[in-house]
Amino acid sequence: MTELISNFIGGQWQSGRGAGTALIDPVLGTELVRVDATGLDLAAGFAFAREQGGAALRALCYRERAAMLAAAVKVLQANRDAYYEIATANSGTVKNDSAVDIDGGIFTLGTYAKLGETLGELNFMRDGEAARLGKDPLFQSQHVLVPTRGVALFINAFNFPSWGLWEKAAPALLSGVPVIVKPATATAWLTQRMVKDVVDAGIFPPGALSVVCGSSAGLMDALQTFDVVSFTGSAETAAVIRSHPAVAQRFVRVNIEADSVNSALLLPDAVPGSEAFDLLVKEVAREMTVKSGQKCTAIRRIFVPEAFYGAAAEAIAARLAKTTVGNPRNESVRMGALVNQAQLASVREGLDYLKQQAETLHDGATHALVDADSTVACCVGPTLLGVRNADGADRVHDTEVFGPVATLLPYRDPAHALALVRRGQGSLVASLYGSDPQTLAATALQLADSHGRVHVISPDVAQLHTGHGNVMPQSLHGGPGRAGGGEELGGLRALGFYHRRSAVQASTVVLAALSA
Ligand code: NAP
Repeated sequence: MTELISNFIGGQWQSGRGAGTALIDPVLGTELVRVDATGLDLAAGFAFAREQGGAALRALCYRERAAMLAAAVKVLQANRDAYYEIATANSGTVKNDSAVDIDGGIFTLGTYAKLGETLGELNFMRDGEAARLGKDPLFQSQHVLVPTRGVALFINAFNFPSWGLWEKAAPALLSGVPVIVKPATATAWLTQRMVKDVVDAGIFPPGALSVVCGSSAGLMDALQTFDVVSFTGSAETAAVIRSHPAVAQRFVRVNIEADSVNSALLLPDAVPGSEAFDLLVKEVAREMTVKSGQKCTAIRRIFVPEAFYGAAAEAIAARLAKTTVGNPRNESVRMGALVNQAQLASVREGLDYLKQQAETLHDGATHALVDADSTVACCVGPTLLGVRNADGADRVHDTEVFGPVATLLPYRDPAHALALVRRGQGSLVASLYGSDPQTLAATALQLADSHGRVHVISPDVAQLHTGHGNVMPQSLHGGPGRAGGGEELGGLRALGFYHRRSAVQASTVVLAALSA
């Protein structure tokens, strides 16, 4: 039997009482470790975090909490090699893809350490200027933001065991709110190991950082009114979270990041052979293959002018054909595995579903696996689909196949393109490709209401832009509508979720004393 890794809750390392669920290497098929949360006293653990962890964090100022984040960055950096080994084994990712998760997570934590320093010695924030409430300026209203007196529960998806933890934990801990993370079972090992390293280093006060691996049973039940929950995962599970009594009856604040059918849009001036056209081709191929397409922000739909459909199909397919797929331990491999057999089956099923309305422009099945046994490894080549009648293909606009799959769609004119993009019903991100600043700017604003982020790629930023799918801590991450309606990151905006806003109405003398 492999090692049963521990949970850290109630200020103690605790093993579940069950046999546990095995975590599997998706390339070799071997068992790695086991996780289990059976029998944990979650109510006591949550109370410990809420009372001990929360009080200790709130007693500190933002700068002191920022210093803790910076110390955690150092610990994580010192252990990076171990994290890469875990990612290779458990997520089946090549080094560059593991970096998106591991270094992306550490970078985000470091960014919040720096942002937190700018907040100084205070332990609350003023929200805007004071406003007079009557003719006499003595009596005014000042909005303040204070940390919520509860825990932040993170129920995370399997695809970002590191980044998914730190992009949420950084703003929560900086705000003074204790964190309890429940990683997705399939890849819980990396999250657990990172939490263990930080806990063992004694950086945060007891109760500030906890991890529960294994079943989610009972976690939502343990939430109380001033707790918050952030969920990242599928739309189906999101619906369960939204309707749970903790949210529906006990008023727990909830942030949802669900699935998203993101778009790339080639503008009419980006003719085949132009730099903007080539930038789209490159970005689409990259987005489809990074982390084997298991990225919530990955491009799923590619919109091009009708006349460019053939050229775009050919150029993207040619690029995808060069992708070597297989064992991430082999240096020649560019794309590793899907996370497990269930995900492989789900991608195959999704492909079959879309193919009933689409033609295959590049078939992932033509990729021979490098250094991997196709009967065991959860590897699949990238597939580009195409639909000539973009209006009739409802499945393509509605279905997120969470793997290396995207669909090319032609549009008649710009208004048609925008209407088609909007059929995603709200997405995390859309990227635009063109050379005319006026058209790009106008199109960006047209799509801003239905997208958390609009990523504009013009030739002048070809070497500078941060990537369609890369979530930078400075920018908002989240999306309206079916993307879940959540908001994360966006610099200090992220702290809003962990604070409560209150208007203090008082004499200006009292308001001045607030920051004393
Ligand atoms: P999932 O199956 O919905 O699982 C997400 C998390 O919810 C896991 O930790 C899971 O635990 C837990 N969970 C399952 N049932 C639950 C319940 N009844 N109550 C409470 N928690 C429960 O999603 P996934 O397969 O891990 O992730 C893939 C999906 O996530 C994709 O659709 C992707 O688009 C989305 N995603 C979105 C974003 C974003 O930022 N918008 C980012 C990444 C991924 P177990 O693992 O133990 O079942």
